[in-house]
Amino acid sequence: MSLDPYKVLGVDKSAGPEDVKKAYRKLAVQYHPDKNPGDKKAEEKFKELSEAYDILSDPAKKSAYDTMGSETFYRQGTDGRGYTAPDLDATVLNFKDILRNFGVALDFGFANEDGGGGGDFDFMGKQRPRGRSFRGEPPPRPLKGQDLEYHIRLSLRDAALGTKVTVSVDVPVACPKCGGSGVVTSGSGLRSCPDCGGERQVTRPQELSAKIPAGAVDGQRHRLAGKGGPGEHGGPAGDLFLVVRVDHDPDFRRVKNDLFTEKRISLYTAVLGGQAEVKSLTGRSSIKVPPGTQNGGRVRLKGKGVSPAGGKEGDLIVTFKVMLPVMLTDEARDLFARLSELAPVEGLDSGD
Ligand SMILES: [Zn+2]
Repeated sequence: MSLDPYKVLGVDKSAGPEDVKKAYRKLAVQYHPDKNPGDKKAEEKFKELSEAYDILSDPAKKSAYDTMGSETFYRQGTDGRGYTAPDLDATVLNFKDILRNFGVALDFGFANEDGGGGGDFDFMGKQRPRGRSFRGEPPPRPLKGQDLEYHIRLSLRDAALGTKVTVSVDVPVACPKCGGSGVVTSGSGLRSCPDCGGERQVTRPQELSAKIPAGAVDGQRHRLAGKGGPGEHGGPAGDLFLVVRVDHDPDFRRVKNDLFTEKRISLYTAVLGGQAEVKSLTGRSSIKVPPGTQNGGRVRLKGKGVSPAGGKEGDLIVTFKVMLPVMLTDEARDLFARLSELAPVEGLDSGD
């Protein structure tokens, strides 16, 4: 299709860039599809306007058109390969969307028209809330941004005692290239934004710090308000949820706020009693082993478990595992035989 861009925009050949821009804006508003819903003709006209603007706003294209004439220009273009109109159909799915966003742009452009030098489209490169729609249209409903989830792995100790985490999360942000409009207008008319492909958002890694309070459990979610995806049409940003995953710990097993651990002691400490050192969350604790401690016997250390802020204080429960000597000399074996007579185990026959 070849069109006469001067005719389409209603300007003559002596029109300067400002005249072209002004004419384009005026007509683009008139034929804007949001203003003419379902009107195929208006949509077609709007495309023609974009094409005409594409040619006349680009000095190289304008001069080629002027010297070659319409037919040759469309066949040869400025590079011998023919003229290609702005590729609006490449983003058919987003078409309405793009137009609506462009509507915001137009609105903004008019607001600045008297400002001298303002009213250009380069503001689209800046991020701004898209709360307003095309002039005269009700503004689109503000939408809250997407909620995001990010899993954090914590050691049992960090989860129990509380910790500060710093994570790098890929968060969607309004595309900086197009200012979240999905379209760019640089030089050659209206185009789908090359950076976000018309999606209006791109992801960027973002460093976030959060304090995880003491007593966090596996699967617990921590909300970072407003750290999710960007809102649309002036809506608030979504939230980011940090989901806690607690790693297995070689020393402790946690049940609610209690911690369970195992302590190996020798037969002699078990029989005679003594001291033993056990690992606790914050270091080591010395505990007393009562004489006659059985294998599997337990002691409970009050308050040495998990203590969530404002929650019930847990205990550390130590289970003793009694270890026996296995390499016995003849003399030692004789002594054990002797002991079995001197100190029989209560309730058991010597054959058991
Ligand atoms: Zn973009």
